[in-house]
Amino acid sequence: MKKHNFYAGPSILPEFTKEKTAEAVINFAGTGLSVMEVSHRSKEFVAVMEDARSLVKELLQVPEGYSVLFLQGGASLQFLMAPYNLMGKKAAYLNTGSWASKAIKEAKLFGEVAEVASSKDANFNYIPKNYEVPADADYFHITTNNTIFGTELLNDPNVNVPLVADMSSDIFSRPVDVSKYNLIYAGAQKNLGPSGATLVIVKDEALGKINRPIPTMLDYKVHIGQDSMFNTPSTLAVFGCLQTLLWLKNAGGVEAIEQVNKEKANFLYSELDRNKLFVPTVPDPEDRSRMNVTFVMAPDYTELEKDFLDFATSKGMMGIKGHRSIGGFRASLYNAMPVESVKALIETMQDFEKNK
Ligand SMILES: *Cc1c(COP(=O)(O)O)cnc(C)c1O
Repeated sequence: MKKHNFYAGPSILPEFTKEKTAEAVINFAGTGLSVMEVSHRSKEFVAVMEDARSLVKELLQVPEGYSVLFLQGGASLQFLMAPYNLMGKKAAYLNTGSWASKAIKEAKLFGEVAEVASSKDANFNYIPKNYEVPADADYFHITTNNTIFGTELLNDPNVNVPLVADMSSDIFSRPVDVSKYNLIYAGAQKNLGPSGATLVIVKDEALGKINRPIPTMLDYKVHIGQDSMFNTPSTLAVFGCLQTLLWLKNAGGVEAIEQVNKEKANFLYSELDRNKLFVPTVPDPEDRSRMNVTFVMAPDYTELEKDFLDFATSKGMMGIKGHRSIGGFRASLYNAMPVESVKALIETMQDFEKNK
């Protein structure tokens, strides 16, 4: 039976990425060696790193004056590297969920954090609006897509300070105006590649303005100076990321994939609005994530939750169990997810409904 992969992360990757990576695990770039067993300083791997960094720039139209890095430690390490490198006395944060809260916790180690707004009052089921960002903040930190709670900030906010963003779960799903950001970071394992690599896009001019000493490994300038090779990069993961970037370019880039992502999300949200058994957890359509669609059983049908999970699993729907902090279900529809899989999930929901 065909498996449909709705896991939130690590998550679905293009067939192209898997096939090319499998080949390179055996014979990388004609070397007769595995990509896992050649030096990161070999000309073959240096080319992988350079191609990956330049494709990121091309696909996101990164302006001059920015550096692209592939680091390790996940988005979680960026929660502290960002304030370590960019926060003098004060930074502003928007609290839209568990990941944002974790970023705030780390930032508080470095200075004053202005939490400008939070949707915690409603278990993070909306994106706060009409907040004010203090003009003396060094940056305004946002989490563009809230993987756990199924909300997404679909535009680059207009504020009077530079933006810093955790884009772990929606990077490359739509165009962004990089010029508004001092820093963008993303763990690879949602929309880009295998776990183990972390993408960082940083504005060079924003660095070097902080008085505190920065440990070498946590200093963006060190990694920029060494072309992402200060220490051994996660070679296999970076290779996988490059394959996904090549696939995306071939698929027409971020504008083209955004149209597909919109279509997939519309299909599923329309079904959720129609099907009497289910309700989406995010009421305002404007705030609904295209990447992670969260839903629960309607109040009259809560006792069917386990039945639906078992039924869906028996139909090949993998990874739709919701995160423990909201329960219910979550269908992650990242770039690599084909429209057919979304349709298969919808059919499963309709089949289940017919018998109730
Ligand atoms: C998954 C996720 C993280 C955590 O990423 P790690 O790579 O595990 O550190 C952080 N932020 C968001 C938005 C995520 O989806």
